[in-house]
Amino acid sequence: MTSPVRVRFAPSPTGYLHVGGARTALFNFLVARQSGGTYILRLEDTDTERNTDASVRTIYEGLRWIGLDPDEGPEQGGPKGPYRQSERDALYRSLADELLSRGGVYPCFCTKEHLSAMRERQIAARVTQRYDRTCRAIPRDDALARVKAGEPYTLRLNVPEGETLLPDLIRGDVLVKNEDIEDIILVRTGGAVVYNLAVVFDDHHMGVTHVIRGEDHLTNTFKQLCIYDAMGWERPKFAHLPLILAPAGEGKLSKRKHPEAALEWYQKKGYPPEALLNWICLLGWSYDDKTEIMTRDEMIARFSIERIVKSGARLNLEKLDWMSGDYIRRMPLERVIAEITPYLVEAGLVSASPNADEIEKIRAVAAAEQGRLRCWSQIVELAGWVFAKDVAFEAKAEANLKKRPDSADILRAYAAGLAVQAFDDPKALEAWARAWAGERGLGFGDIVHPIRAALTGRAQGPGLFDVHRILGRAACVARLEAAAAKIGG
Ligand code: GLU
Repeated sequence: MTSPVRVRFAPSPTGYLHVGGARTALFNFLVARQSGGTYILRLEDTDTERNTDASVRTIYEGLRWIGLDPDEGPEQGGPKGPYRQSERDALYRSLADELLSRGGVYPCFCTKEHLSAMRERQIAARVTQRYDRTCRAIPRDDALARVKAGEPYTLRLNVPEGETLLPDLIRGDVLVKNEDIEDIILVRTGGAVVYNLAVVFDDHHMGVTHVIRGEDHLTNTFKQLCIYDAMGWERPKFAHLPLILAPAGEGKLSKRKHPEAALEWYQKKGYPPEALLNWICLLGWSYDDKTEIMTRDEMIARFSIERIVKSGARLNLEKLDWMSGDYIRRMPLERVIAEITPYLVEAGLVSASPNADEIEKIRAVAAAEQGRLRCWSQIVELAGWVFAKDVAFEAKAEANLKKRPDSADILRAYAAGLAVQAFDDPKALEAWARAWAGERGLGFGDIVHPIRAALTGRAQGPGLFDVHRILGRAACVARLEAAAAKIGG
């Protein structure tokens, strides 16, 4: 019988939650869900200088936002806790002693000076910079006696002779010569353990069956395999996810250069989390060559590690916009209203507790723009004109306004006619406007562009008679007159 699946997402809280991290969390979550397994969050917070509480919160909030709260973790607790590495030091120290007694590590007494001289020699000789294994030659009893006598030491990985084979679930068999694996420091002077050791101790003690993480950890994995072997522990299965590449083929997605590397960026823009999750799921994985839109349950049912690609996955933001627009179009209007309102409030376009008139406008705007929206923040750009006190004109709209020498007269006369028209039905209003233009010997096109410009300050937007209805009669009349005054005549 195979043991139940236990997987983990193990971020280091040193900054924001990376979109690649969110993908790692999602893939782990999916693997757990499809097998009735457990998905764990472990904070790898041993680097006290770089960890921040803000980053810890960002991780919790980010995972919650996309619906990936763990089954076990620092907030949830669980049988294998604590789930922060900073709270697991006692375990690490006792296991490090065991690793030493099993010969998986050896004490190293090399001084900083010795190590930097060694590095300089290697640079000069143009060979790989790597610990030269000086202290490995010290007889074990001598080394232990020096440790006992109080000489400062670190513990280094005792890489055995031979080769190490990693049967990776995505990359297939990866074989490495052990002479290419460095005897890295696993325990620092003073007893603090480093990532590569803590991760093995934790994965083993938390019963992790599958380690699914970014490809950037591939070289670490070989060191970690040596530790499993030295401890006599069963190795978990490994799957290394492809890199995430920058949007415009500029290489690797970098935290510093690309704001869209941060999950928060998408949250601030107001992408619906279910759309974002769908898009993230397709970063390096596909169900077949055509299916794009999938609910979370469909992802759970369909996901398979075998269909993850080896090559890097480009962050395709156009695809996200398309996908998100599709999700938004299928949402109930009430949700659109609820989602856009905070953005309108934040932009100062409506009051913090909108009044009846504002509520009505928000509803009308939501209905008119639902088909165009890609993310909620876009509403400010698309519909700012509805709420603005004075119309601000785009250059193209201003040109449309002045296209005919008699534009001001047309706008004024139209305003006067509009003031006494039935207003509720956009179709009836359009019929009236067409007739109105015809009576004056004008084409419909002669009036549409200046009227749209006068009402919205834009050259494009929702249907012109939806615009009328969104604004209401009084605002339409006032804006038409203001525009007529602006162009003079
Ligand atoms: N803490 C590591 C990181 O944030 C992940 C380690 C792992 O998944 O093994 O990159």
